[in-house]
Amino acid sequence: MHVHTLENWQHSYDFSVKNDKGEQRTKYVLILTAITMVVEIIAGSIYGSMALLADGWHMGTHVAAFMIALFAYRYARKHANNPAYAFGTGKVNVLGGFASAIALAVVALVMLIESLQRIVDPQTIHFNEAIFIASVGLLINVVSAFLLKDDHSHHHHHDHHHDHYHDHDHNLRAAYLHVLADAMTSLLAIVALLSGKYFGWNSLDPIMGVVGAVIITRWSYGLLKQTSPILLDASIEKEYQQAIQDAIEKDSDNKVSDIHIWKVGANHYAAIIALVTHHPNSTEHYKGLLQEFGKLSHVTIEVNECKEAPCCEQEPNIA
Ligand SMILES: [Zn+2]
Repeated sequence: MHVHTLENWQHSYDFSVKNDKGEQRTKYVLILTAITMVVEIIAGSIYGSMALLADGWHMGTHVAAFMIALFAYRYARKHANNPAYAFGTGKVNVLGGFASAIALAVVALVMLIESLQRIVDPQTIHFNEAIFIASVGLLINVVSAFLLKDDHSHHHHHDHHHDHYHDHDHNLRAAYLHVLADAMTSLLAIVALLSGKYFGWNSLDPIMGVVGAVIITRWSYGLLKQTSPILLDASIEKEYQQAIQDAIEKDSDNKVSDIHIWKVGANHYAAIIALVTHHPNSTEHYKGLLQEFGKLSHVTIEVNECKEAPCCEQEPNIA
């Protein structure tokens, strides 16, 4: 019977990646982006510009992403050791991503239909006002890119947190590149509006609406593809699982009878492994076999002793 403390066999269930500095920066960009989003959607509707509306909803995808990131940081911190969540709250951002991908896919569809209608049946566009708001949107994009442009020099003091900072750099850099790409699409929207104003090419504006809808749909599809397997616990690579099974089976006469590996956080997996053997060993022994698998942070091993005589191998000599 185990009458001693269980502490040595327990560990924290906090598998989420936290980062205060990243949180602070995303917050500033979020506020800027949210304001731009609202202004562009309202202005796009009033001034009849699909390009502006598309830009506004595109900002909406960013607001959704940032909101999820912020919410996930907070939620993960608040419930880091809440036993109600059997495997922690590492998936809270995955769930948020899935939900907003669905919501914005619907927006993109509505926008696509509306844009196509306007190509066929052009509406009046108030070019001057639309161009002004689109220019403000472009400016906000540039400011956001500047805020997200990371200064790498100060990270060398944090070697013990290296993994975290590496993720953080990577995320910020990706966000920075994305915002730069967005600045290009904003610029295109302005070009489309200017062409409408000076050359009467009015359908360029709804065409930019179609482009915007396609970009949002791509974002949405990518996010659904990325999040659904994690939500369905189908996220481990076949090779990785096979390698784990092989590591167990190449020891003694072990046979893996049941194996479940699933994602509990961004880079963390849990595993339940049941094995059958004629020569049962300690749990530590089997966990030792899995030492090289750094992604496994929560392993449960079930050892079943086979009482039947081994059929195809010699019993080793045990005194
Ligand atoms: Zn974007």
